[in-house]
Amino acid sequence: MASFDPETRNLIDGKLVPASNGAQFENINPATEEVIGVAADGTPDDMEVAIAAARRAFDETSWSTDHEFRKHCLEQLNAALDEAREDLRQIVVAEAGSPIMITYQVQVDSYIDSMPYWSDLATSYTYESPMSDIEFMGNTQARIIRREAVGVVGAITPWNFPLYLNLAKIGPALAAGNTLILKPAPDTPWSATHLGKLVSEKTDIPAGVLNIVASSDHGVGAMLSTDPRVDLVTFTGSTATGRAVMQAASATVKKTFLELGGKSATIILDDIDIDAAAPMAGIAVCTHAGQGCAIQTRTLLPRARYEEGIEKIAATMSSVNYGDPLDPSNLMGPVVSKKQQERVLSYIEQGKQAGARVVVGGGTPAHLEKGYFIEPTLLADVDPDSVVAQEEIFGPVLCVIPYEDEADAIRIANNSMYGLSGAIWSGDTERALSVARKIRTGTLSVNGAQWFDVDTPFGGYRQSGVGRENGLAGFEEYLETKVIALPK
Ligand code: NAD
Repeated sequence: MASFDPETRNLIDGKLVPASNGAQFENINPATEEVIGVAADGTPDDMEVAIAAARRAFDETSWSTDHEFRKHCLEQLNAALDEAREDLRQIVVAEAGSPIMITYQVQVDSYIDSMPYWSDLATSYTYESPMSDIEFMGNTQARIIRREAVGVVGAITPWNFPLYLNLAKIGPALAAGNTLILKPAPDTPWSATHLGKLVSEKTDIPAGVLNIVASSDHGVGAMLSTDPRVDLVTFTGSTATGRAVMQAASATVKKTFLELGGKSATIILDDIDIDAAAPMAGIAVCTHAGQGCAIQTRTLLPRARYEEGIEKIAATMSSVNYGDPLDPSNLMGPVVSKKQQERVLSYIEQGKQAGARVVVGGGTPAHLEKGYFIEPTLLADVDPDSVVAQEEIFGPVLCVIPYEDEADAIRIANNSMYGLSGAIWSGDTERALSVARKIRTGTLSVNGAQWFDVDTPFGGYRQSGVGRENGLAGFEEYLETKVIALPK
């Protein structure tokens, strides 16, 4: 039995409502395979009402121009999130199968604690400033540059870090003065609907400013990419779906902001203490069962130290604690669904068929009878052009690839359609930095240093996305630019 009381209704035009046809869909705990409850199964009619409400709230209220009021409302939301923290933690663990260990970091706590960054920006940001004067046909003209909310934002999110990713869209979009419709992943509805309850009961956010429409039907979310009343669609999810969103949004030339997949590489240079570096590569891929877009899922080892490196990574991956996500010593729980479990297992099979050597794991754990678990899996001798080295597996599966020299390592790291993240380990920080400058990705870590924070612009090169989430750059994704010229 759940010890928390999740909200099952959608928030549409200021009201918590069931689906228009009364339908509900089941929420399944991936660690137990049990149905833990239901959520309103939002319909196209519900989405239609939500879009109309968001449009009206943007066009007919002072939400976009009253910066002080927005700050006040968002501060109420911050306080409500703080109060609801333990419920939200239980929800994320139960519906996403997230190990509770990481809920004390970005999955729940660190992002709730970061929310004042957005509420403060509502008033501290300079929305209007003078530019230099220009001469035009013998007259001097003044110019003003203004940043204004884009309008109605459609936000579509995945299940792996559901609360964080919902807040990472709600925070900046609302702080910048937009109205928003959030369509969460069907696997994790409560991490969104519960926010609707907080907004409705604990804040003065006006009706229509924030709408939350959970649905088991991807098509309901797809309406956000096509509807002409939506000005911007912000999407986090797989690259395949990101392409569909971008294509659908093109008919109305909608602004699109995409945070997509990754296949990031760890480069272990030949001058590092391999005892220190190699275990970290194993730990990274097991965190939350590898279900993180920025997790490094390829490890590049110098040929001369290849077997030694594999041995160290294997030792770490063989001893990782995993199982019940509520056990605080577990680094990984299950993957999110039966479908994902089958997908990950099929990738492991493809890897084997393409000649990869299974050093650790390779299947489902015998000791866990229930739940969509996958063994921590280490694939060695992976061809850098093969499917498992190129495609995002989204499971605890690490591909190890040997390289000949530094230039070869950089070439293999960059041999990807993705460009989200990466890690470099070296005994010489300057050398690591020079390699980091040559890797085509949005974020990089040297010797385990951490880049993630609410003020860090995060996003991808190439097919890992368009735009940046978080930081000032992330805030400005939700603003238009207007220049007004006037006679002096
Ligand atoms: P997904 O692409 O299957 O689904 C994401 C969301 O899109 C869900 O809400 C889903 O209902 C919706 N959706 C599906 N089809 C749609 C369509 N045609 N139009 C509009 N919406 C549609 O992704 P997922 O499996 O839920 O999440 C895992 C993926 O997310 C991975 O690829 C991961 O790398 C990526 N991700 C990226 C980031 C980032 O910031 N770059 C962060 C987390 C996850």
